[in-house]
Parts: sequence; structure tokens; C-alpha cells
Amino acid sequence: MSAESVARVEALVRRQDEWRLSQTLNLIASENVLSRRARALMSSDFNHRYAEGHPGARYYQGTRYIDEVEAEVRDRVGNLFGCARAEVRTISGTNANDVLFCTVLREGEPAVVNPLPVGGHISHQAMGGLGKYTRQIHTFPRRPDGYRIDVDKSKDLLKEIKPKLVVFGKSLFLFPEPVRELAPVAHEVGATVAYDGAHVLGLIAGRQFQDPLAEGADIMTGSTHKTFPGPQRGLLLSNMTEEEWKPFDKKAFPGSLSNHHLMTLPPLLVTLLEFETFGREYAAQVVRNAPALGQALQKQGFDVECADLGYTASHQIAVNVTKFGGGGKASEVLAQNDIIVNRNQLPFDPPKKVNNPSGLRLGVQEMTRFGMKEPEMEETARLMRACLIENKSVSQEVNRFRSRFVDVRYCFD
Ligand SMILES: *Cc1c(COP(=O)(O)O)cnc(C)c1O
Repeated sequence: MSAESVARVEALVRRQDEWRLSQTLNLIASENVLSRRARALMSSDFNHRYAEGHPGARYYQGTRYIDEVEAEVRDRVGNLFGCARAEVRTISGTNANDVLFCTVLREGEPAVVNPLPVGGHISHQAMGGLGKYTRQIHTFPRRPDGYRIDVDKSKDLLKEIKPKLVVFGKSLFLFPEPVRELAPVAHEVGATVAYDGAHVLGLIAGRQFQDPLAEGADIMTGSTHKTFPGPQRGLLLSNMTEEEWKPFDKKAFPGSLSNHHLMTLPPLLVTLLEFETFGREYAAQVVRNAPALGQALQKQGFDVECADLGYTASHQIAVNVTKFGGGGKASEVLAQNDIIVNRNQLPFDPPKKVNNPSGLRLGVQEMTRFGMKEPEMEETARLMRACLIENKSVSQEVNRFRSRFVDVRYCFD
């Protein structure tokens, strides 16, 4: 009986692999895939071991090879982002944000963030990680388009409330943030300026988006598995002095983690090596594909947000699907046809509209990694039209289309 149960688990995983890696169009903006060689390293003995502390200064024996890998990850992350400090032990972006928040904030000190409806991440909210450290959470005023921060009004807000922490970056992330414009004012009033680059980390590393640390951010956090196509981990990056960095180091370990999912370190190192060679080419194709998908969907009869701004400068686009029953309904219909997307609130949705918001958020980074370019964005838009506007069943067509894009590109074979 139990051997059969194990076989059932194995079958479930095989079905998952087959379905999502060779049959579906994956357009979830926070996901990506490892190369074959990176993925092959995921089930090593690193999976069984402990390595608290830093390479060369561990609390356990037996970490000789783990140390070599982790030290190289730290060096290559620093080189890739051109920064002096890199905390590579956090196991997710939320974990990295937690390190940031608990290092910078004392109980009750004010912070300024992007709110949920305009794409702010849950970890920046009162109900998420930030809420554990302060209830004084203010939000950036927005421009009339809803997607961009209003610089002048934000300057006034910063001067008025004098926050200790300012967090740029979000999850529905179409355009760069005004870091260069607002960081000086934030610094004047004594704030630490942070940039949550979880979504756009691969675009920043590929030099296709703003460079927050160069524009005045003191610290950047991020996830290694969204536009950066690595295993699931988190990062903190900075150009602080060693002395300034010490509290962050202590809040990482022992403050917020002990062992740190060592089996994902070798795949991260492989992804860094791949990115050094192929990263710019990949990121450049991503930022060409996203507006191409926006334009193609608009042509097919969809209401794509921010048409007058060129749809997007990142890997994402936002589509208003109110006329197809909302984002909850539309994402379900698409999933039945093997097109995988997620529903999303749009800036003007009422706060309670979480389960059937008006939008879909689409990301092109994963399918770009499988080799899709502008013509495939048009085909994707046509399939979405057939599904949502013409009410056709297109899963077989989707499967056939996808079967031409099953090998991960931008890596060493
Ligand atoms: C995804 C995301 C995170 C959290 O990352 P995890 O690695 O899933 O914990 C943090 N911030 C933003 C803006 C995100 O979009």
C-alpha cells in the first residue's frame, strides 16, 4: 500500500512536469524555469546538510564544498549587480524583506510603500511582514494613470511624515520607480531607501530596467526566481560600508533564518554563470516581448492597460477583463484551455474585490526563456482571443503551439 502511495506521488510530479513544462502557455509574471543543467543539481547531498554562518565560518563541520559554492554565489551576485554587499542566504524575497524591515524599523516608526491595489506586495502591508514591525504604514500618492508614483505629492508626504523606511518596487510592476527623484528627499528626512526588485531582478541584472542602487537606493531586496531565472531564494544587495552592513548580516542569521535550503545553491550558481553569458540577450528579448504582447492583445480586442504609455517597460502587462466577467472568471477559462495566468487587482478596483478583480497580470519572461519572440506573442494573443472572445476550446491548439517551445534557451546545453 505505501509503495503504491509513493508511486502515486511520483506520478503526480511526472504529470506536473509534463503539463506545465510541455503543454501549457505559462504567463504568470512571478515564475520562471531552471535550465536542464541547473535543475539536475537540485537533488544533491546539499539537500541533506546544515551550514549556518558564512563560508569559512560555519557552526558545523563537513561544509567544504558547500562553502566553495556559497562563496562563489556571493562573489558572482556582487559582480552581476555591481555592489559591495550581497546577502545570499535568505530563502525567499519575503524572507529578505523581513531582514530589511526588522533591521531598519523600531516599533511604530513610519514607512512609505506601494499599496496593494496598485501592485504593492503583501509583505509591504499591515497584514504582511511589515505589519509585524509597524502600524505606521503610508502609501505613495499616484498619478492619474494609477500605475506611477506622483513625485511632487510624494515629496510633500515624505517631508510631512519623515519616514524611517521608504520601499519602492511592487508586484504589478510596469514602469520604473522615481528613485532618482525621491531618494534625496527621503535621505534628507532620515529614511533608509529600499527597492524591492523581486519581479524585475533579471531585467536589472540584464541592464534592461532602472539600476536602483545607482539611482540612490540604499538597499535592494529580491527573489531569484521571477525574471531572474534561478531557483527559489532571496537576496539583499547594497553598497553600504562593512560597518553599516553588520546589523543586516545579524538580522539575516541568526535573526531570520538558520539553515538556508542548501540544495538551491548549486542551481543558483549555474544560473549566475548562464546569466553572465546570456542574461542581456534574454532580458532584452523579454522587454521586447511584453509590449509586443500588449499591442497584439489590444489588436485582438482586449483592453490592455497603459496603451498610451506603450503598455509596459517590464516583463508584465495588465489587461482589464471586466467585459469577460472579471479576472477570476477569465483566468479560470484560460486555465481550462492550458493558458496559465493570474487574476490581479487593477489600480481602480475597490479594495475588497480580491477574488474577482477586473484584471489579469501577464508576464512573458518564462515563455521568452523557452525561445518565444514577437511572432509568438501574436499567436498567444490570437489564442487568448479565440478562448475568451470567441468562446472556443483551444487547449489542443495551445498544446501543439507549446510543443515547439520546450527547451530552455539562454543557457549552456
Ligand atoms: C514576489 C514578491 C516578493 C516575495 O517573494 P517570494 O520570493 O515569493 O517570497 C516580494 N516583493 C515583491 C514586490 C514581490 O513581487
